[in-house]
Amino acid sequence: MGLFSNNKKPCPICGEATPRLLATKIADKTPLCSDCSRKISMEDSKVDDLSVDGLKAHLALREENAKYLENTFRPNKKIPIGFTNLNIDGVNKVFTIPLNMCGDTENPPVFKFEELMSYELIVEDDAVERFGKGDAAPQLMPMVYRPTVVVYDKDEKPQNETCSFSLALYLSNPCWDKVVSSAGSVSARKHFIQHEINDHLDKLSMVTAALSEIMGMGGKAGAVESNADSTAEDIKKFKELLDGGVITQEEFNAKKKQLLGI
Ligand SMILES: [Zn+2]
Repeated sequence: MGLFSNNKKPCPICGEATPRLLATKIADKTPLCSDCSRKISMEDSKVDDLSVDGLKAHLALREENAKYLENTFRPNKKIPIGFTNLNIDGVNKVFTIPLNMCGDTENPPVFKFEELMSYELIVEDDAVERFGKGDAAPQLMPMVYRPTVVVYDKDEKPQNETCSFSLALYLSNPCWDKVVSSAGSVSARKHFIQHEINDHLDKLSMVTAALSEIMGMGGKAGAVESNADSTAEDIKKFKELLDGGVITQEEFNAKKKQLLGI
């Protein structure tokens, strides 16, 4: 093992050497190897309090999460957010969103609809829209745009400005109280930046509409409405199979119940 690994304090999960510097630590300052720490998906403050058994239980749940994604999770709605998607499975009433702080991008945590309490749409550092469960309508805050990245040309004239967007979700979930997902950025010359920002916010309104729907708020067309459409479509298909004698009445009833989530 190299200069930067610690053989005296092996990982309590797998026994591998742990990093000498900046290792993720659980309770009693027990360090973890980088492979095991990458699999964790929870708030840093919660990791600090984990016992070895608590971590083992969490990693078992993470494996179940991966299996769920592979075998059960079937998003019927994929809405672009940043470089990836907000993926919504309206039948199982669950969704995934890319997280800035979870190292294991192959295994994003699956959240239940009911766990979403509120969201904030953030431009640079300021929330411009906030919507919580039970609110009648999204709360809109005036945008005070202050560019944090400005590119200058060789005459030191400001050339391009960059503006970045993110979404913060507040959750009632054992591992996450808040997750942040980057929601893209735009770059343009000073005079055009506001136009670019507005265009990007327009695109993100698809995401916020879907999140509002997830919280059961109704509102603009989004996740749930088109779920209803695709559910009706699916039931029609199974009805045809029933009428054609391909499936039995019992099989049709079971499938219909499953599709309607009852
Ligand atoms: Zn390990």
